[in-house]
Amino acid sequence: TFTTRALAQPLTNADELIDSVETFIFDCDGVIWKGDKLIGGVPETLDMLRSKGKRLVFVTNNSTKSRKQYGKKFESLGLNVSEEEIFASSFAAAAYLKSIDFPKDKKVYVIGEDGILKELELAGYQYIGGPEDGGKKIELKPGFLMEHDEDVGAVVVGFDRYFNYYKIQYGTLCIRENPGCLFIATNRDAVTHLTDAQEWAGGGSMVGALSGSTQREPLVVGKPSTFMMDYLANEFGISKSQICMVGDRLDTDILFGQNGGCKTLLVLSGVTTLPMLQSPNNAIQPDFYTNKISDFLSLKAA
Ligand code: PLP
Ligand code: CA
Repeated sequence: TFTTRALAQPLTNADELIDSVETFIFDCDGVIWKGDKLIGGVPETLDMLRSKGKRLVFVTNNSTKSRKQYGKKFESLGLNVSEEEIFASSFAAAAYLKSIDFPKDKKVYVIGEDGILKELELAGYQYIGGPEDGGKKIELKPGFLMEHDEDVGAVVVGFDRYFNYYKIQYGTLCIRENPGCLFIATNRDAVTHLTDAQEWAGGGSMVGALSGSTQREPLVVGKPSTFMMDYLANEFGISKSQICMVGDRLDTDILFGQNGGCKTLLVLSGVTTLPMLQSPNNAIQPDFYTNKISDFLSLKAA
């Protein structure tokens, strides 16, 4: 069975929405910034919400940076956000391993960039792989057998601009041959927007390679899976009905909010356009939509 949601409504009375929740979770790219550029009106909007006593949380599926590195990015954009308010999928991967008491004497094989390595290190985990495996080539001679570390108990896959066949084979050997080895994905975004000239293959492309070779589905820790939502609700002691999830993407952000039982607001400052939202092919309807979060400053009751 499934429930059909009402069609998304244009946000007309922001104060009513703001008063109805105690926490706002903001997706980052497409809501707070676009690439390295701050979206207009964001600092004033966040200040207003803080002055009303709202808790602000920032969630991103982009695993290339750690919490600390994102803290620097917020700071460089003139935003006053602390590391503890930031939940990136890199952090989520390490937090997930902690949550299941992943043994410290096991290793993690990383297919991904620096953010994942930094978070694993901070959590006290041993890892191998990462960008340094990007230069490795396999020389196929007759009888060649690739060795792999039998102490690898988890393979974490995220967006990786240094992805290659070596990493696919190494990760596949770990998942297939090490008993109980976990297969964890930071996110499965099909595309990302590295430049605004075109869509670029996202983290889902690296995850798809490994799921293709292992014939296993990963455990996803990023949006739209509920792991980060459960984690942060628990960490801050907040009830999910008191959260509004704000994002620019239907299949990650809005689904993430809906999977968590939160209110949802789609902003059109990122990848989703109004025709995409209103297309008969789209089944994901947020509660509300608006152009950008700074509409909070102008949309008052009539
Ligand atoms: N993954 C990568 C590699 C990205 O570059 C981006 C956006 O820049 C994302 C995921 C999506 O990030 P967010 O969840 O903040 O929209
Ligand atoms: Ca986004």
